[in-house]
This record gives sequence, C-alpha cells and structure tokens, in this order.
Amino acid sequence: MKGSVVLIIKPRTIPDELILLRLIRARNKVSEKTENQIVSLEKGYDGEKMFDQRMINLSLDCLIINDLLFETSNTHYQIDSLLITQPKIHIFEVKNYEGDYVLDGDSMRILSSGKEIKNPLLQLNRSVSLFRQFLQQQRLNFSVEGHLVFIHPEFYLYNAPPELPIIFPTQLDRFLKQLNTQSSKLIGKHQGLANKLLASHIKDSPYSLLPEYSYDEMEKGILCGRCGEGFMLSVDHLHYLTCEKCNFAENKETAILRSIEEFSLLFPNKRITTNAIYDWCKVINSKKTIRKLLQTNFKHVRFGNSSYFE
Ligand SMILES: [Zn+2]
Repeated sequence: MKGSVVLIIKPRTIPDELILLRLIRARNKVSEKTENQIVSLEKGYDGEKMFDQRMINLSLDCLIINDLLFETSNTHYQIDSLLITQPKIHIFEVKNYEGDYVLDGDSMRILSSGKEIKNPLLQLNRSVSLFRQFLQQQRLNFSVEGHLVFIHPEFYLYNAPPELPIIFPTQLDRFLKQLNTQSSKLIGKHQGLANKLLASHIKDSPYSLLPEYSYDEMEKGILCGRCGEGFMLSVDHLHYLTCEKCNFAENKETAILRSIEEFSLLFPNKRITTNAIYDWCKVINSKKTIRKLLQTNFKHVRFGNSSYFE
C-alpha cells in the first residue's frame, strides 16, 4: 500500500533486569539460578528482536508499542508487543522456545524431559482479558485480539488444535501479509489511545528480581564496553584503556563515564563523588581526571561540608 506508515511509538530496549544481571555477574560469582535467569532473559529478548524485525515489514498504517507493563484490577501484566490498526488492536506474546513441546489440556511440557512449563496461552488469555477491562474502564471502544507467537524456526508443538490463537514460525509471514491486505487509516482516536497506553505504562523496578549483591563484595574496575565481561587495563601515559579479555581499546573518558552509569544503576542510593568513582574504577590513578570528568558531565551539588554529583 502506498504511503502507509508503520510508526514505532515505543522501541524495544534491553530489559533493565538483564543489564543489571550481566553487570552483577561480571563482578561477582552468581548462582546457577541467576545464570539460568540471564540465559532465559537473553533468549527471550533475542526472540522479541526477531519478531520486531518481521513487524517493520508491515505495510499498513499502524502504531507499534513494545514492552508494556500495566496494572488493571490490582493485577500486573506485560505485553511484549502491541499493534494498533484501524480495525483492531493486536496483542502479541512472543516466545523463543526451541525444540519439541507437547500441549496437554491446560498444560504444556517439553517433550524430551517431560518438564512442565508455564503455559504461555494462559498468560496471553490473562493479558487480553485484563487489557479489555482496562479499555472498558477508560471507556475506550476497540476490539482486541491476542496472539501467541512462536518465533524460533525449530519450534514444534504437538497436539495443538487449529483454533488456538497461536502463530507458528511458518505462519508468521502469511499472518503479516493478511494484515497488509486490510485497509487501515489511523485517525486521532488511535493516536489518543497510544498516548493513553504510554501514560499508563508502569516503569518496572527490576531490583526485586535480582540476587543480593553488595558494593564491598563486588570486584572493582572498569568493565569492557564491548564484551562486558573483561576488565579494562590502564597504562598511565596512554589516553585509552584495553580489555584484558577481548583487547578492545577505548578512550579513558568514555570508559569512565560508562562505569559511572553502571555504578548508579547498581547502587541508585549511593552518591556519585570523586572518591566513590575513584574507588569503583580502580584503574584510574588520577583523581583529578575523575573530578574533571564529573564536573563537565554532571551537576555539582554542595551538601554541608561535602559535595556530590548527579
Ligand atoms: Zn572486552
């Protein structure tokens, strides 16, 4: 269709929970449980990005809003991807499962191990139903359809009856083509809906899902900006640092700034001071360098006899 616009109102970003877990793992020993949490978050995020790649090929007027968290009737629910078209709102739950699974009534199992997993169909139904309630409460009149998308090309689900709202990997292209054949002209009320959804989105705090960690137990130093796993080594007279693991070379100031950002992500209640960052970065021998960097990039707040940056 000519002149159609796919507008991504809220792009997907790496989940905060994943960013923090990676930072903790790089500086601390983590349990197998945390390790698994990271792997599963990474896999889920990869799947969602694959889905996004397909969605941008839509050619009808539509709005896309990713990663929404709402609370309706005192219940939290998450929407991986929401698509507003003129005829209806589509809600997508995206799963990046791989291999053979079996559907058995309301339960879903991994074929090889027999291990039961949380049935994503129930999760989808719950989200759709809560989202309909939300619209009703807001006196908004739109029809809503939910879809469970399995994105991994090597996924198979035994016993899945055709009437379920599932889109299998081999069906996604046809589903999108079908959407493209609809006429969709967005008007003010669609944009209004998008604004309302953004305003109702809850900025989730990931801290409750993290393992316990403390400043003292963490290894200090500047983590690599490329691999995120190695620490940066410093040679005094050079203006750059190099990663002990992948040899990535990076300008000192960029590296310190990233490390400050990580410091405040991990310890939102700790104040940013020259001494704190000096201790945190460990390999920067000149406090003067750090103070100068803080002065240019942050706001200096005086507080009694001491001061900090924010
Ligand atoms: Zn590296």
